[in-house]
Amino acid sequence: DSSLIKEKYPALWQSAVTHGTPQTRNAATVVGNILRASPAGDCSCAVLAHGGTVVLEGPDGRREVDIDDFWLGYQVTARKPDEIALEIKLANPGKSTVSAFGAQTRTSLDCSKINAAASLSMNGKICEHVRLAIGSVAPTLLRLKKTEELLKNTQVTEDVLQRVADSVPTEINPIDDVRSTREYRLEVSGVLIRRTIQKACSL
Ligand SMILES: Cc1cc2nc3c(=O)[nH]c(=O)nc-3n(C[C@H](O)[C@H](O)[C@H](O)COP(=O)(O)OP(=O)(O)OC[C@H]3O[C@@H](n4cnc5c(N)ncnc54)[C@H](O)[C@@H]3O)c2cc1C
Repeated sequence: DSSLIKEKYPALWQSAVTHGTPQTRNAATVVGNILRASPAGDCSCAVLAHGGTVVLEGPDGRREVDIDDFWLGYQVTARKPDEIALEIKLANPGKSTVSAFGAQTRTSLDCSKINAAASLSMNGKICEHVRLAIGSVAPTLLRLKKTEELLKNTQVTEDVLQRVADSVPTEINPIDDVRSTREYRLEVSGVLIRRTIQKACSL
């Protein structure tokens, strides 16, 4: 319900309002979503797109781990067994930063077959900086760094979005599991990223 999160971090807000059930939304935390280290984590996907750090504390003191380096493998994090997570620090978005979250095909009470989040810093119509995150397509949530390069210092046109959509499947390695198939995820990933960027940019 936070108006601050809704205004400054739309992707995180959107991932939280569609997350799970009223019961899980009332009780669950964003920290727990990140520490759970599921490759399908909805809030985790949004946080990866926003950028930030996880603050950990243990007997050896306090440290911050960049969210880009936090998930080491399937349900494995950089947290040591004797550390707890104190908080998440999100990068401060500029006034012209836009973001959005999207997921397929959950209706309720189900985790995403695939999810995505995008954060773009715009200078007029030019995208100066971008972070694209995608989930359920690898052992951990992923940033699409090669695809991000296609958007940097350029206008987000139909042509660019098509190249972005074509690039996404080349950066992921999904599997078949109980929720979906490798084939579906490869097919849908580019469309989902494209639509998430369009949603963020109100295109
Ligand atoms: C019915 C249902 C629906 C769900 N739907 C979704 C969904 O749509 N999308 C989604 O992403 N997830 C979903 N989940 C999974 C889960 O509820 C979420 O990931 C939630 O955000 C976890 O947060 P939590 O605070 O409950 O963490 P917990 O479940 O309490 O903790 C998760 C893990 O993190 C560890 N942990 C938690 N906090 C800390 C800390 N401060 N320091 C160190 N370790 C910590 C715990 O020990 C545990 O291993 C669903 C779960 C249920 C039961």
